[in-house]
Amino acid sequence: MTTTVVVGGNFAGMTAALEVKRKGKDQHKVIVIDKSPLFLFIPSLIWVPFGRRDIKDISFRKDEILKSKGVDFMVAEAIKVDTKKQIVATDKGDVYYDHLVIATGPKVNFDVAPGVKAYAHYIGTPNGAMETRKALEAFKNNPGPIVIGATQNAGCMGAAYEFLFNVEKWLREQHIRKKVDLYWITPETFLGHFGIDGMTGGETMLKSFMKMFNIHYRTEVGVEEVFKDKVLLTSGETLPSKFTMLMPPFVGVDFVKNSPGLKATAAGYIPVTDDYRHIDLPNVWAAGIAVDVKLPFKPGKVPFSGPKTGYPSDETGKIVAENIIRVTQGKQDLKKKAWGKIPGICVMDAGKKEVIILSDKLFKPRNFAIMIPNVFYDFSKVLFEKYFLWKTRKGYSFLP
Ligand SMILES: Cc1cc2nc3c(=O)[nH]c(=O)nc-3n(C[C@H](O)[C@H](O)[C@H](O)COP(=O)(O)OP(=O)(O)OC[C@H]3O[C@@H](n4cnc5c(N)ncnc54)[C@H](O)[C@@H]3O)c2cc1C
Repeated sequence: MTTTVVVGGNFAGMTAALEVKRKGKDQHKVIVIDKSPLFLFIPSLIWVPFGRRDIKDISFRKDEILKSKGVDFMVAEAIKVDTKKQIVATDKGDVYYDHLVIATGPKVNFDVAPGVKAYAHYIGTPNGAMETRKALEAFKNNPGPIVIGATQNAGCMGAAYEFLFNVEKWLREQHIRKKVDLYWITPETFLGHFGIDGMTGGETMLKSFMKMFNIHYRTEVGVEEVFKDKVLLTSGETLPSKFTMLMPPFVGVDFVKNSPGLKATAAGYIPVTDDYRHIDLPNVWAAGIAVDVKLPFKPGKVPFSGPKTGYPSDETGKIVAENIIRVTQGKQDLKKKAWGKIPGICVMDAGKKEVIILSDKLFKPRNFAIMIPNVFYDFSKVLFEKYFLWKTRKGYSFLP
């Protein structure tokens, strides 16, 4: 019997755990360690501030699903791993492994600039999204300028763009749009770079959205400091702001940083080869945001990062599971797919409009890449959400 321990059980970790168990059956014991008992569909958090979703609509208990598929689940925080003794230390005790999968996602670096934590809102966690909802309610009665964007070193620009266009729509619904100067700030060298060097037509499309919806924008800027009523940019410009939402950079979680044996990068990500196996530790694997991905483009004046979205997170979970099974069967030939060669499949919800992003590879060179705008309605992300929640509730991890 081989014991696989998966630390982190949301997108990548839940897929990896279910797939090891489905393929390995009775030969494999699989244990998921996660500090949260809930599965959370993070992409729909952008709708929570507007009341279009509540947290209960996009989360559910994962322990029963995992148990029904034969996977053990431990609600615990992993503190560190001793890679020599093969033991994960948690706040609920030690857990031994034969194979370890790290799928711990990101930690948000709010210290990227002074005032980001104190004065800017963040929509990437349930608490952050609910706080943002409260702040928007208060803003309605006392409107003024708004600054939305991504800070230097950020990589998750897509979610911030989504929030921007949803705020613009919400302002019109509240009949206060004319009272609000709306600003978009981004470290990207051009609109729609998205940390993947853009796609044909993307910049033109976003520029036309900005013009159509009267949104002022600044590219290649970072945040020097956020105050209660203004945002100071690295360009020296100060933008007045009564409501600020920023996407800070992601880094690796403390569990990884507390474990020197993992030889993580300075940012706290796990160095792996194209089979998602640790470069030096043959029984350690990484999936999802925890993976170290090399930048696919030349940085501009202001540094920024690449996106680690849901589809590659799920895919890398599947690849890791397949490879653990192959290794335990004594096979040498492992499945390989570099992060940048995974297809790009994403929907950017833009508030009653959307952009569907499809490419054969996430990073250039690509054979095809298209951005399909739909300016009449935004149903694709809703379909994606419904499908993903259904598949995960059923434990159908093998589905795309
Ligand atoms: C606001 C927002 C919107 C997004 N929108 C989209 C979108 O529209 N489309 C898209 O494709 N992607 C989107 N993404 C990205 C997507 O959410 C991520 O790609 C995906 O969640 C990554 O999966 P993961 O499993 O690597 O990490 P996560 O989903 O973050 O899961 C990590 C898990 O690890 C657990 N964990 C962490 N540390 C520990 C520890 N020490 N001990 C125990 N457990 C631990 C956490 O509790 C969590 O359950 C969005 C992200 C954000 C923030």
